[in-house]
Amino acid sequence: MVDSGRFRRLLEDEKQQKLELLAALSSDITSVNRARQDSNVDDEHDPEGSTIAFELSQASALLEQSKRGLAQIDAALERIAAGSYGLCAVCGAVIPEGRLEARPWTPVCVEHASGRA
Ligand SMILES: [Zn+2]
Repeated sequence: MVDSGRFRRLLEDEKQQKLELLAALSSDITSVNRARQDSNVDDEHDPEGSTIAFELSQASALLEQSKRGLAQIDAALERIAAGSYGLCAVCGAVIPEGRLEARPWTPVCVEHASGRA
């Protein structure tokens, strides 16, 4: 049986960091968008515009990634609450603590991770 209290703290720390990152990214995106509207930049023809568009797409990608990470963390916290934390969602095997320490949000064992978690 894993010490779920310890992992809950890890997950909650991780969640806090993700929430802060999400807030920072959202305000970045908002301010870049506002700056773009103010300057009325033509994305396609103005070199400045394409830089801004690139920054926006980078920030949006990071935002999406963080949202997915947050969803995984929330799901892991739910598994802790449900008492199924630390068991592979595919085969039900106990996930080694070393793996949980590296990726406390993972829902599967190494064998079933297939590169996704
Ligand atoms: Zn498995």
